[in-house]
Amino acid sequence: MQNNPDSYYIGTIILSILIGLVVVLIFIFIRKIITSILDGLEMTYTFFTNRPAFVHFYMFRKKLTRNQTKILTEQFTFYKRLDAENKSYFRHRVATFMQSKTFVGKAGFKVTDETEVLVSATAMMLTFGFRDFSIKAVKNIVIYPTKYFSEVNKVYHKGEFNVNLNTLVLSWDSFLEGYRIEDDKLNLGIHEFAHAIHFNCIYQEDINSVIFIDTFNELRALLANDEILKNKLIASEYLRQYAFTNDFELLAVILETFIETPRAFKHQFPLVYYKVKQMLNFNFPGY
Ligand SMILES: [Zn+2]
Repeated sequence: MQNNPDSYYIGTIILSILIGLVVVLIFIFIRKIITSILDGLEMTYTFFTNRPAFVHFYMFRKKLTRNQTKILTEQFTFYKRLDAENKSYFRHRVATFMQSKTFVGKAGFKVTDETEVLVSATAMMLTFGFRDFSIKAVKNIVIYPTKYFSEVNKVYHKGEFNVNLNTLVLSWDSFLEGYRIEDDKLNLGIHEFAHAIHFNCIYQEDINSVIFIDTFNELRALLANDEILKNKLIASEYLRQYAFTNDFELLAVILETFIETPRAFKHQFPLVYYKVKQMLNFNFPGY
């Protein structure tokens, strides 16, 4: 009896597929074990330090154009203060963020390099202590030239974050005004991105989101239990009244205040200051 060459080939192919499957399964299994061990080690590290084990790790670093880098260098104080290595990380993050979001100009507003760089830099400043800086809760960034009429609330707005539409809306004149005076604790871009990051951290489970939410809960508990501290905070008017509208506004106003006046914040309310620093893992020049 002769062997059929066709059935021999089919047998070889099936055997190869089976061996391939087994190899893939073993690979997935080993990867899972290694990931679990690394996650466990990081959890232990974070338990003692309240920080992620590392923040920056990139196979390749994206580049900005010469004009985009010039905008950062000339107009973004946080970037100017970083050392060369961190500047390179920051440019990579701004370039990555810019490319992953859809920027839309409304009411005749024309989106330029300046718009995309400064808006993205605001988001990347707030998440510079995070390993995952993607802010997936934001997919679209809509810019109006000036304040706009909101059909939802029937009032004029300077900006908002719409979690259902994954959209962050800003009026450009107010955005720039936020940076024009750098220490008045008013910054529209920081305020709206604070809302977006807050929502993002509620839904995500990465290490920075966990630290962010856990620490914010500690801060809320601190203010709820320490009447003297809370009254001092309200009476000082250091945080503007709007902060006490609800927890979301509290967080947004606290981040505006933290970024714009770190020295005064640390001096007047050190306990609150260090909680915010921990939430953002913000160990950068000036903070
Ligand atoms: Zn708000």
